[in-house]
Amino acid sequence: MTSLRVDVAFASLERVISDAIAVLSSEGIVTAWSAAAASLTGIGHEAAQGKSLDQLFSRVEPSLGFAPVPASFTVWSKDETRRALHATALSIEDGWFLSFGAQQRFDAIDRLKSEIVTAVSHELKTPIATIKAFATTLRENPDNTAHARGEYLATIEHEADRLAHAVEQLLLAARVDAQHLMTRRERVSADALLDRALERIGASAAARIERHTQGVALSCDPELLAQAVANVIDNALKFSSDGSPIAIEAEHHDEGTTLRVRDRGIGIATEHLPYIFERFYRVERTLSASTGGYGLGLFVAREIAQAHGGKIEVESAPRQGTTFTLRIPERA
Ligand code: ADP
Repeated sequence: MTSLRVDVAFASLERVISDAIAVLSSEGIVTAWSAAAASLTGIGHEAAQGKSLDQLFSRVEPSLGFAPVPASFTVWSKDETRRALHATALSIEDGWFLSFGAQQRFDAIDRLKSEIVTAVSHELKTPIATIKAFATTLRENPDNTAHARGEYLATIEHEADRLAHAVEQLLLAARVDAQHLMTRRERVSADALLDRALERIGASAAARIERHTQGVALSCDPELLAQAVANVIDNALKFSSDGSPIAIEAEHHDEGTTLRVRDRGIGIATEHLPYIFERFYRVERTLSASTGGYGLGLFVAREIAQAHGGKIEVESAPRQGTTFTLRIPERA
């Protein structure tokens, strides 16, 4: 139980500030939860009472464990948005006072800025350095490199494509934050949508695709949704061995349209599944030439699905394969 003093302090605080606040007992159990905390987190007072933060959120970082609570930490919501909230903890008489700061939106933007700067400086530098090294070698040693000219130029082209792709994803990720994602909504066939997606990936992909999309149409921003589908197919190709088929199925329901992308690839371990839609999250932390992405593809795909009022879901079994399902509702 919260002590009387804390109860009284909490009640008067809740009246004077509009911030989302809560009290945790010394065992880390919620004993008070303000109305603003309920509306910010989407977790009602009744649901929060008596629970630990680990039960209320999908992730708490740094992990609270036992005392002492770090001065500031981040929690991620349990719904599919996996929204991050910034929290500050203050040690009080027999527990902690928590504030889910009103600054959290700005904190998130600041974090995003520094994440992008880090990604740009670490990850974009590598392909740029490769392009420069190969171009310089070709220019300075035309005779010695004559035999490998085609190979060097292919490497330059491949790295330039990767850069272009990364920049496109970063720009889309920035548009997500500006909430300027959807520009139009029109009716297109699932087949036409898939054609657009495959155009983005390149001709070599088409041979591995098994289509089950005939006769289905959906209402969407075709340019955007094709990007989401392309990101998912691109992963399916990257994370499964050459030649294994990628099945794409479209189905129409009363509520809308389902697009499924199934691969028989390496799969994703259960512990990673909750995080793969987060910005910059990658199971393999190191970049490799074949699978090196920036952890933005699924983040962008999820944001695009949500901009359509829909969602994206994943099912996966290690070494058996992964299925991503995009659910796009019918809407005017
Ligand atoms: P990236 O650009 O690194 O591919 P994504 O956001 O598209 O980033 O994917 C995040 C991570 O999820 C990937 O790095 C990969 O580890 C995992 N992943 C995504 N799709 C698949 C898949 N079809 N099979 C196995 N792992 C996948």
